[in-house]
Amino acid sequence: MNLILFSQADTFTSSDGELRVRINDARRLAHLHQVHRAEEGKMYRLGEINGAMGRGELLTLTEQVAEFSFVAEQQPPAALNVHVLLALPRPRMLARSLENMAALGVKRITLINTARVEKSFWQSPELREEKIMHHLQLGLEQCCDTLMPQVDSAPRFKPFVEDQLPALLAERRGLVADPGAALPCPRGLPVETPLLLAIGPEGGFVDYELEQLQQTGVEGVQLGARILRVETAVVALLSRLY
Ligand code: SAH
Repeated sequence: MNLILFSQADTFTSSDGELRVRINDARRLAHLHQVHRAEEGKMYRLGEINGAMGRGELLTLTEQVAEFSFVAEQQPPAALNVHVLLALPRPRMLARSLENMAALGVKRITLINTARVEKSFWQSPELREEKIMHHLQLGLEQCCDTLMPQVDSAPRFKPFVEDQLPALLAERRGLVADPGAALPCPRGLPVETPLLLAIGPEGGFVDYELEQLQQTGVEGVQLGARILRVETAVVALLSRLY
């Protein structure tokens, strides 16, 4: 937690009219006590979800609550202009992939179904909105960003590719990560380069899916001979592209 992220619901106005931030959930309090060894009177980096980042003094700290002052100082760092289509991975891998994508600056994620996504993954409690938000929040706290990524899902591959993908590709170059592709993944693009990046499930995309993506205008790209786990491929692809 390099940044203490708070929401509007965590704020209140002190008796002398100053903005205050109150943290009283077990996870953030434990982190403040155990990792930060937080002390009253010290300054901390704080940021409002979807708002500014700044600093605050820890005014009160007990086992139950931490209260900070807050002064906004700067906007969050530049985001990557990428829309990630991620074949829904197993729950633990989803959690880590979400956290990594949030930390690297991805703001648009669509979880898609493909032939090799296990049906049961769509029933996982990890897909509940509060679980997804939790993992994204961990990523933002890690990297010091406040802009919450938007996540949606496309539980049917073919209608998604036929009906929604063309409009997305009108605005961005589409790439599909495929170890069998001929084209090496591009590198070092400016963060504002509009891209759509499709990443397959553990078993990879099936040929039919790759053909459908390619017919819609998505180019296959590879990272070399090593086949990476989804959560690693996400990081390797994004850090190479941008
Ligand atoms: N068994 C599959 C690999 C799946 S790895 C196969 O051989 O195709 C899971 C996903 O991570 C892949 O679908 C791809 O999107 C991405 N990925 C992993 N390693 C990669 C590499 N070397 N190049 C490009 N994409 C890769």
